[in-house]
Amino acid sequence: MAPEKKPTVVIAGAGYAGLAAARALAREKNVRVVLINKHAYHLLQFQLHEAAVNKIDMETLALPLSRVLPREVEFVKAQITGFDFKARLVHTDHGDFHYDRLIIALGSQPATFNIPGLNEHALMLKSLANARTIRGHLEMTLSLLKSATRSTPYPIVIGGGGITGVELATELAEGLQGLERQYDLDRRAIKVVLVEAASSVLPGFDQKTIGEAARVLRKLGVDVRTSTAIARVEADRVWLKPIGSDQAEEIITPTLIWTGGVRANALVLNSGLTLGERGAAVVDEYLRSLDYPEVSVVGDNAVVRDPRNGQVVIPCGQLAAQQGKYAAKQIDGDFKGAVVPPYLPHLDGLLISLGSYAGVGTVGPMWVRQLIARVMKIGAEVRYLFNIGGVSLVLARGLLLRHEVVAVMRWLRRTKRAGRKTEHKGQGNAVA
Ligand SMILES: Cc1cc2nc3c(=O)[nH]c(=O)nc-3n(C[C@H](O)[C@H](O)[C@H](O)COP(=O)(O)OP(=O)(O)OC[C@H]3O[C@@H](n4cnc5c(N)ncnc54)[C@H](O)[C@@H]3O)c2cc1C
Repeated sequence: MAPEKKPTVVIAGAGYAGLAAARALAREKNVRVVLINKHAYHLLQFQLHEAAVNKIDMETLALPLSRVLPREVEFVKAQITGFDFKARLVHTDHGDFHYDRLIIALGSQPATFNIPGLNEHALMLKSLANARTIRGHLEMTLSLLKSATRSTPYPIVIGGGGITGVELATELAEGLQGLERQYDLDRRAIKVVLVEAASSVLPGFDQKTIGEAARVLRKLGVDVRTSTAIARVEADRVWLKPIGSDQAEEIITPTLIWTGGVRANALVLNSGLTLGERGAAVVDEYLRSLDYPEVSVVGDNAVVRDPRNGQVVIPCGQLAAQQGKYAAKQIDGDFKGAVVPPYLPHLDGLLISLGSYAGVGTVGPMWVRQLIARVMKIGAEVRYLFNIGGVSLVLARGLLLRHEVVAVMRWLRRTKRAGRKTEHKGQGNAVA
């Protein structure tokens, strides 16, 4: 008797959601798992801004998929070009792949909101190639600045004061200190301008978190412009417009890094699936598309509602991985005829780094800030590495954290030294 053919689950995308789905499904003996991704690596996006400002090595963010995928998963390195949901096919530049169940986990891309010139002239921060371009651009700009005579500081404009914008602005402001030394520039030769259309940075966050982020940004000398929109961009200038005003301010700079929002991958936007916020696919309580129950959509590609309050959950890596894992479980349950309860999002907390020494956010019910928040964020990154690759990956990728550890050690030493000096002064005063 011929062996029974296993049903095929195709996973499109090996980011946070796709990798989690593949790893969970690999444990099931009764399915064939095919994972398609355009790169042979899994990108650790959380630290992309650190690579862009030359703080960590670019390569350490690209984890070879061969290192984190179980043997049972068939990996195909290919560019997905479209879907034929009726024929149950995924089209790629390496041929078509048939599926019984499909998980779409293709992530997001920058949303430019039809701002004139933004697409053409802004630097984006979404891929390794983007980070490399930013790094090259900054290096070139700083080396040219050395010979230029400017009466005003050179502005580096960041558009969008959400998590990515705030993390990048603080890293950049902190990193500039080193870069200025390296390029023999005066500290006042450069300034970081963070532009946000909402009335505060980190819109949607609680006041305490917003206040702490604003404090650190101020301390690092970032020029924060809230209630201000980017109105137009040209190759060598950016126009800022305060909300409600007709007057636009012109900033002469070729350096605009756009972190102002994301929308779903273009393949999802053009898929014909029912779309919602951010152009992402609306899913039911089992994370299946409304149009084809055999197609699950997860991560940044999906509009997922929390059934407890009806609100759309934020697109983030932590929930993407959770959704990928859930979709795998739901599909396996379907094959086995088991009932799997609906998806319930659970966010352990959200931490935002504010340079090497500070952070802010929540861990469970706890609100944390400063060094403790930064250390916890590093802890979350290590935990993720451990979950996908065990101790050996944590050790092998220790390089990723090298800079953070050195920075924290330096900070502790400085604090200790400052403490000792105060003590001496105190004693001196007592004698006097
Ligand atoms: C700088 C930065 C910092 C961030 N920091 C945090 C943070 O601290 N905490 C947090 O929770 N979230 C953070 N995020 C957001 C988080 O990275 C995303 O929410 C998360 O990556 C979404 O996971 P995903 O699986 O949906 O998509 P992704 O992780 O983006 O994965 C999509 C995958 O699909 C592949 N792909 C795309 N198109 C194709 C195609 N046509 N063919 C084949 N493969 C394709 C990509 O190569 C990629 O592997 C950050 C994002 C950025 C950019």
